[in-house]
Amino acid sequence: MPAFNSLKGHLYTDVAIVGGGIAGILCAHELRRRGVDCILLEKNRICSATTGHTTGKITAGQGLVYQKIASRYGFDTASAFYRANADAIKKLVALSDKYPCHMQIRDNYVYSLSDRAAIEREVRVLERLGAPASFEGSTELPFDVAGAVRLSGQAQFNPLLMLGKMAEELEIYENSFVRAVKGGRVFTDEGSVSAKSVIIATHFPFIDRHGFYYLKLYQHRSYVLALENADSLSGMYVDEARGGLSFRNYGKYLLLGGGGHRTGKGGGCFDTVRAARRRLYPDSTEKIAFAAQDCMSLDGIPYVGRYSALGCRLYVATGFNKWGMCGSAVAAELLADMICGVQNRLSSVLSPSRSILHRQLLLNGIESVGGLLFPTTKRCTHLGCGLHWNRAEHSWDCACHGSRYTPDGRIIDNPTQKNAKL
Ligand SMILES: Cc1cc2nc3c(=O)[nH]c(=O)nc-3n(C[C@H](O)[C@H](O)[C@H](O)COP(=O)(O)OP(=O)(O)OC[C@H]3O[C@@H](n4cnc5c(N)ncnc54)[C@H](O)[C@@H]3O)c2cc1C
Repeated sequence: MPAFNSLKGHLYTDVAIVGGGIAGILCAHELRRRGVDCILLEKNRICSATTGHTTGKITAGQGLVYQKIASRYGFDTASAFYRANADAIKKLVALSDKYPCHMQIRDNYVYSLSDRAAIEREVRVLERLGAPASFEGSTELPFDVAGAVRLSGQAQFNPLLMLGKMAEELEIYENSFVRAVKGGRVFTDEGSVSAKSVIIATHFPFIDRHGFYYLKLYQHRSYVLALENADSLSGMYVDEARGGLSFRNYGKYLLLGGGGHRTGKGGGCFDTVRAARRRLYPDSTEKIAFAAQDCMSLDGIPYVGRYSALGCRLYVATGFNKWGMCGSAVAAELLADMICGVQNRLSSVLSPSRSILHRQLLLNGIESVGGLLFPTTKRCTHLGCGLHWNRAEHSWDCACHGSRYTPDGRIIDNPTQKNAKL
């Protein structure tokens, strides 16, 4: 990845973007394309967090999300969300001409091991939406499935190749930790940026006094192995069950993901994916192992738009539910429209101020109360929940909102803004 200096002194711009993952960089790219001046601030190196540890599938087939959206919000909302994702795929594929990134068109399969009826329902909803979807009773995976939703014309790529090239055209400051946002001014340790608008693209938003993101989001970790000498798959695959397995090829490697769990809670971790490797691909060799986490919204739809109902020039892009490749491209289009004063019908669908009355809100609340009461001296500097030792990765993790620390207390993952004394 290209390297950038840190921010020193005071600068002026139209839009300050905080966070240099795929969400921040695609927003900056889209704004610049429209002639809007912007500056991006990244606390470490760009793409060093979740975006650097993704599996890079670009698909509208994001689990069984459309039947859930249609039953909760209605068919029009499901349709708007599907169209936005389908357009985002086209946009990313078109961008790959200018920013080569091993883009490959692939079918995406969401499979279920046990719930054929749910798969059939999703296919029916997708067909009604006009999506190129079909039901499959079997796949090329080395185990039986109850059924799979096949969505054709999706894609896989290496986001770092695309974003690294894009970044060279942008004004970026790395090692520039944004400590505070006041009015239209963004403060780092050695400088500040005054802007007409500010986008928070920090993965988990860190401003707690607005927006209630500490209630609306939690983080979910996943574990990935890159295997050599495993099968070569023509499609991309994901289990509709949250802790299930995911598959895609990248060159000679098969990326096998799984073992997911709420950050800070117990889970299968690498043991689950390693056991799956032994069972499914006994002749393969593990070459690389990595883990990362993503922000999960209450209803499976990202939060993109005004940070809260109160602030008008502060925007956010988060809650991608492990589908931030497509989701970030959708977010970039929507936020650029909002900042440029263009009407976009998605603004109400993705609005962070939509209703928060979901079962997951109760679960998040229970987790937070449990975290606050958990008896330990090792506490998170975000909102004070007890920290849990992560044996698989040797870190201190918070189950409330997913902040993580090194053994000596340095921040690995936000929303925390401060190191801990551990
Ligand atoms: C294992 C795994 C596999 C996945 N696979 C897929 C997939 O196949 N397809 C798909 O669509 N999605 C996938 N996802 C999800 C996708 O990777 C994420 O949704 C996406 O990368 C999130 O991007 P982001 O820009 O929001 O966050 P990040 O990439 O985490 O970027 C946020 C940036 O903000 C910076 N930052 C934080 N706080 C501050 C601050 N105060 N000041 C300055 N900078 C700050 C961080 O350092 C970081 O660089 C996967 C996720 C996981 C965990």
